[in-house]
Amino acid sequence: MDLQSNCENCGAPLKGHICPFCGTSFDPSPTLSDQMIALDQLHAALSEAESERRVALLTAGYIPEDAGALIEAGVKCIPLVNLAFSATQETHAAVDRLRAITAKLRILDRTPETSRAIGEFSEVIRVFDRKDRSDTLLGCSLLTILVIVVLIALVYYFVR
Ligand SMILES: [Zn+2]
Repeated sequence: MDLQSNCENCGAPLKGHICPFCGTSFDPSPTLSDQMIALDQLHAALSEAESERRVALLTAGYIPEDAGALIEAGVKCIPLVNLAFSATQETHAAVDRLRAITAKLRILDRTPETSRAIGEFSEVIRVFDRKDRSDTLLGCSLLTILVIVVLIALVYYFVR
């Protein structure tokens, strides 16, 4: 097929299997190797992009069709879900991409490989969600403590 055209989604000029700007795939019936190449191109675009563009690429970026390529997509996505630090917009976008990949895997025929991948991806998502909740709680408690400290300071200032 002719790979020299413009992206239907954003109009950017296309050279490979995906739009390097928005991550849309424009190949209507990709083979497994086409899907793997598209995935590599998406991750190459991600590694070169600025943070804001990375969020957009992760949100709208190409998700393959076949189980093998979907598992690869999930494995490549996991390092982007940075569990060590507070969640950024980018981390949330990476987790949402992993959720979408996992959901797509779930509707395919189950094999030992897909079952294992679904289990591992779900675990990463679960750990992220738990950490994200406790980070939010910690943020709320710190804010509450700050408000109390300010109130005590005010009371002390006026009573003195
Ligand atoms: Zn595009």
